[in-house]
Amino acid sequence: MKRLEELVRDNIYRLTPYSSARSEFKGDASVFVDANENPYDTLYNRYPDPLQTELKQKLSALKGVPAGNIFLGVGSDEAIDLLYRIFCEPRRDNVVAIDPTYGMYGVCADINEVEYRTVRLDDKFDIDIDALFAAVDDATKIIWLCSPNNPTGNSLSVGRVKEVISRFGGIVVLDEAYIDFSATPSLLGELHNWPNLVILQTFSKAWGSAGVRLGMAFADKAIIDIFNKVKYPYNINVLTQRYAEKLLDKAPSVKRRVEGIIRNRGVLEKLLRKCSCIKKIYPSDANFLLVSTTGAKEIYDYLVDTGIIVRNRHGITLCDECLRITVGTRDEIRLVAAALAAYDKK
Ligand SMILES: *Cc1c(COP(=O)(O)O)cnc(C)c1O
Repeated sequence: MKRLEELVRDNIYRLTPYSSARSEFKGDASVFVDANENPYDTLYNRYPDPLQTELKQKLSALKGVPAGNIFLGVGSDEAIDLLYRIFCEPRRDNVVAIDPTYGMYGVCADINEVEYRTVRLDDKFDIDIDALFAAVDDATKIIWLCSPNNPTGNSLSVGRVKEVISRFGGIVVLDEAYIDFSATPSLLGELHNWPNLVILQTFSKAWGSAGVRLGMAFADKAIIDIFNKVKYPYNINVLTQRYAEKLLDKAPSVKRRVEGIIRNRGVLEKLLRKCSCIKKIYPSDANFLLVSTTGAKEIYDYLVDTGIIVRNRHGITLCDECLRITVGTRDEIRLVAAALAAYDKK
């Protein structure tokens, strides 16, 4: 890996961060008149902990990663945007991403005026190592990987992911938004081996909290310290911090829900196999199935008319005539399967 000083934008490396009242004094006192807050208790009259200390301690225990290696953001979206703002000089640097993958990496590149280079996955939806490194040059700061990948649903091979991390001199981001649905274990346990690895996870999928907007980034402490310098001082509000602390206490029941979704994925797959309008069901390690169909637009429109919304992925690289179907409840699965069976008979 190149030195962090070479990878981080100069203005960010030199940045003196805003020092908030809550970061200058931490601890117990009886009178807080340092932050111009309203003194009357409304439950929310005080600023939140800028570093979410208690929440990170719980997360640290659950994930087996020190609190100093954790960043929390307003969804994964915040971490994705911060990675561009920290590492990529607009109009000079570039990033390389697998294709197809999650759309936000490209949108954030456009917003930050950073060149976004895409490298097609191979016919097994795995990383094409030679093509990936052919796209890398001296101005490549980040490689974006996503495993299990969206929208393909599969896990990338661990050997190839590790080869990318160890060969690349810049930052490798591994988005593990769907890791809890996967048979392949997270790379989090090996984070300490890789100073250039950033792992993203989220409360939006397995944790059932997309509405809350809370995302996690795990990385070497030197990288997390820069995240903390650049983020809005109070990015995670009090309601979210308390909610997430309570949610983590319920980790066992969340895990049972996830196991149920994994079982339902099998049920959905079995029912879709009976539909002649579904030509292929791709293997999934996530909470959705990518399926290739006899006509994505027509089936999509038909389903909309019956009140069922799936995601049309036709037009995305390697996803011709494909639909992406999220694993819903048993009832929702039956409704989707029944609608597709009716489409077959049409
Ligand atoms: C859904 C999803 C996320 C979650 O993003 P949030 O901003 O945390 O809701 C992240 N990455 C991928 C690949 C996703 O599909």
